[in-house]
Amino acid sequence: MDSKIVGVLGGGQLGRMMVEAGHRLGMPIVILDEAPNGPAKQLSGCIAHIDGAFKDSAKIKELKSRVDVLTVEIEHIDVKALYELDKEAPGSIQPTPHTLELIQDKYRQKVHLASYNLPISEFKQVSNVASLAKAGGEWGYPLMLKAKALAYDGRGNFVISDEKSAHDAASMFAANPLGFYVERWVKYTKELACMVVRSIEGEVVSYPVVETVQKDNVCHVVLAPACVSGSILESAKRVAESAIATFSGAGIFGVEMFLTEAGDIFINEIAPRPHNSGHYTMEACHTSQFENHLRAVSGLPLGSGALKVPCAAMVNILGASDSITDLQATMHESLKVSGATVHWYGKRESRNGRKMGHVTIVADDVAQLQDRLALVLAALPGGHA
Ligand code: ATP
Ligand code: MG
Ligand code: MG
Repeated sequence: MDSKIVGVLGGGQLGRMMVEAGHRLGMPIVILDEAPNGPAKQLSGCIAHIDGAFKDSAKIKELKSRVDVLTVEIEHIDVKALYELDKEAPGSIQPTPHTLELIQDKYRQKVHLASYNLPISEFKQVSNVASLAKAGGEWGYPLMLKAKALAYDGRGNFVISDEKSAHDAASMFAANPLGFYVERWVKYTKELACMVVRSIEGEVVSYPVVETVQKDNVCHVVLAPACVSGSILESAKRVAESAIATFSGAGIFGVEMFLTEAGDIFINEIAPRPHNSGHYTMEACHTSQFENHLRAVSGLPLGSGALKVPCAAMVNILGASDSITDLQATMHESLKVSGATVHWYGKRESRNGRKMGHVTIVADDVAQLQDRLALVLAALPGGHA
C-alpha cells in the first residue's frame, strides 16, 4: 500500500504495537529512542531507526527529516522542537505540539479542562507545605498530591492522608523543581476509560467505555465493556468525546475517568496517544487502537472501534522483581487459557512495577470471561487476585 512514513518519538511497548499494526498496512515506521534494541526497534530491524533521546531536539529534527509525519508514544518530549518542525511543515506533527504541551503538564491539562467546563474534581497549584495543608483544611483528607510533569504509572503521585503527612511533604517540594498541584480526593466506585480517535479531516471514532482497575496507582486489569448501566456508558462516552474535542490534532486519545456512587463522571486525565486501557482493542475490536492511531495521523480512513466479541479483559504483566523467570511462568500458564492472547514486550530487564507484557482474554459471555480471567490472575507472580 502506498503509505506515508511515520516517525515515532519513543520506542517502548506502545511504539512496538504501533510497528506491529504498521507492518500489516505496509506502513514504514521509524523509531527514535535511546535504547538501540528496545521493544519497538526489535520488531522492524529492516528500517534504520535512530538511537537518541526523544527529548533531544537535534534527534527529533533528524527523525523528522526521514519521515512524512511525526507522532508520539509518550507525551514527555521536547515540544519546542516540535513547534519549530510544525511551522516548517504544518500538519506534519500529530497530534499538534500544542496538545502535547497542554497534556504533558498535568496541572495545565486540568486548567484547560476546567476552562471548557468539563467535569473534573477540584484542584489547585501548591508550592509548599502551608498551601497543601490549606487545601486539606478546605477539602479534608486524603488529598492526592501530583507532580505536574514527567509523571506516569503513579510515579509523582502522593496520597496525603492527614495534616501530619501534609507537613511531612516539605522534602518533596524541595526535590521537585517542576512543581506540584493537589486534587481533591474522588470517592469513586469505579474507574472508567474510553479511547477516542480523530482523523486529520475531523472524523471521530469512539471505542467502548471500559472499567479499569488500578493497583498501587498502576493499571492492573481492564474489563470491556464496563459493567455499568447503558446511560452511564453513554454519558462517559459523551464526556470523553467532549474532552477530546477541545484538543487539536489527529490521533488517538485515552480518557481516564472516575464514576461516583451518585453516577457522576469526573475526568482524571487524558493521554494523547494509544493507552494501556486500550490494549484489549487488538483482539476485541474491529480496528485496534494502534492501527487507528496510525490511520489517523497518516490520513487514512478510520476503522470501526466496535467490539467484535461479546466481552474482553486485559491483565498487565508487571515486573515483581528484577527476575523475569516468574513472569515467563505467568506467560506460559496464560497460553493455556482459551481466548487468551499473550503479549511480551521483549524488555531484557525486569524491575518492580515495570510493564513487561499483557494478556488479553476474549469470551462469549461475562461468566466465561470471569473464569478465564481468574486463571490468568492466578498465574501472576504471587497469584494476585
Ligand atoms: P498513568 O500511568 O495513567 O499516566 P499517572 O501517574 O498519571 O498514571 P494518575 O492517573 O493521575 O497517575 O493517578 C493514578 C491513579 O491514582 C488513578 O488511576 C486513581 O486510581 C488514583 N487517583 C488519581 N487521582 C485521584 C483522585 N483525585 N482521587 C482518588 N484517586 C485518585
Ligand atoms: Mg498519567
Ligand atoms: Mg492515569
